[in-house]
Amino acid sequence: MRSEYDIIVIGSGLGGMTAANILARAGHSVLLCEHHFQLGGLATWFRRKDGIIFDISLHGFPVGMIKSCRRYWNKEIADSIVQLPSIRFDNPMFSLETTFNREDFTRLLIEKFGIEAETVNAFFDKARSMTFVDDQQMTTRELFEEFFPGREDVVRLLMEPITYANGSTLDEPAITYGIVFSNFMSKGVFTFTGGTDRLVEMMTAEMKKNGVEIASRTRVDKIVIEDGNVAGIEAGGKFIRAKAVVSNSNLKSTIFNMTGKEHFKSEFIEKAEKVRLNNSSCQVYMSLKPGETVDENTCGDLLFTSVAPKFDTKMLLSRDITSRTYSFYYPKTRPGVSDRYAIVASTNANYDDWAGLSDEEYETSKNDLIEDTLNAVEKYVPGIREKIDWVEAATPKTFERYTLHQMGASFGTKFEGLEISRALPEQIPGLYHTGSVGIIMSGWLGAVNYGVIVANEVDAFVRSSEE
Ligand SMILES: Cc1cc2nc3c(=O)[nH]c(=O)nc-3n(C[C@H](O)[C@H](O)[C@H](O)COP(=O)(O)OP(=O)(O)OC[C@H]3O[C@@H](n4cnc5c(N)ncnc54)[C@H](O)[C@@H]3O)c2cc1C
Repeated sequence: MRSEYDIIVIGSGLGGMTAANILARAGHSVLLCEHHFQLGGLATWFRRKDGIIFDISLHGFPVGMIKSCRRYWNKEIADSIVQLPSIRFDNPMFSLETTFNREDFTRLLIEKFGIEAETVNAFFDKARSMTFVDDQQMTTRELFEEFFPGREDVVRLLMEPITYANGSTLDEPAITYGIVFSNFMSKGVFTFTGGTDRLVEMMTAEMKKNGVEIASRTRVDKIVIEDGNVAGIEAGGKFIRAKAVVSNSNLKSTIFNMTGKEHFKSEFIEKAEKVRLNNSSCQVYMSLKPGETVDENTCGDLLFTSVAPKFDTKMLLSRDITSRTYSFYYPKTRPGVSDRYAIVASTNANYDDWAGLSDEEYETSKNDLIEDTLNAVEKYVPGIREKIDWVEAATPKTFERYTLHQMGASFGTKFEGLEISRALPEQIPGLYHTGSVGIIMSGWLGAVNYGVIVANEVDAFVRSSEE
């Protein structure tokens, strides 16, 4: 590492990597620091025996990723994005299969749920037209009440996948729902051929080609402020100077741990203290023995299941799990690389349910999670226990350890984090944040797009400071 760069990016999540890539491509000298040995942040994977690879957050993203990757990464990355054709729901209220786009949801809502075509169209138009400026007051609950009063089954269909995905609730602003839902409804759910390992390998090659210097296993301890401006970072006791710093670390860690609240105005700190972290997740990873298969016709690609009689956000977070989302990975996921089948079961989770356990209790709880999950998978993959050759679990503590997100927060913060994230450079010139905040700027697409927005601002700031 040199002693000075134009820009230092802290963290190699999709937001951090995208910002680093754009800024290096624009001609700035860029250092990307990542505490883990592997890049990607939550867009990550791990290998186990016999070369089996498990993806952590490759369950599905909206079509917008193709355009963003073509513009801000390269054509080869964009061309590797393909649709997941079969999204399924199985709960006590309904079982159905869908391509998860506006056309198919319209069909389902009219034919299966008996809603008037006019109401369905008006709902989709309203969700799509939501903007930051005018729709901050209405909650998602009120939005559903306006269009589908008393229809808990319809709310479940429309809301459950979004809640599974990012922990958002009916009581948050409808805009947080409308934008994410509309992104998916435009064309359906997409994935990356070759898996997260191939994506991050391709992104790393592109960053290196554009001149990003990558320092993995480098944890940034401090963002250094001099005379109210960003001066650089401290990592491993070493000071590295920079004109601008982009933090892709958790927003609250960026403000309170790395920068220090004494550098911000008190009203800002008051607001920042009130920002809620998002909930965390548990996952169970299963690989099938060579030669064993999953019936694609029964399971589909992404399966939202619940045994809860009604949709209830609190139950989705409960330690007593009633809802699970399964991602089924077929040999088509990594063509020519792996012909193995894998299943990843994901659930939302509360950090506090796991953090206070003794080592022994933690191990027992993890084993219970695995056992309960195997029992639940049995319905969709009969004989699962005999078919698998590997199973393990991740908890909120796992997410905290590998990404440094406080309390293992899956999507950074709740929606109010966005305003604080955007306001950082007004407080301290040269200090920027990108990455998971507030649902919209989260997920694979949101993180990439937020990286783009922030990179443009940093580019303008550095150029003007040079002038
Ligand atoms: C279980 C799960 C499933 C998900 N599934 C999906 C999905 O199917 N589709 C989808 O679109 N999204 C999904 N997401 C969300 C998505 O993965 C994230 O929103 C997105 O990847 C976050 O990107 P980010 O830019 O915010 O950075 P993050 O991924 O949060 O990465 C931040 C990086 O910063 C590094 N870092 C932090 N502090 C420091 C420091 N001090 N010094 C150096 N490095 C530091 C961390 O190690 C990490 O690499 C899922 C998330 C989870 C948890």
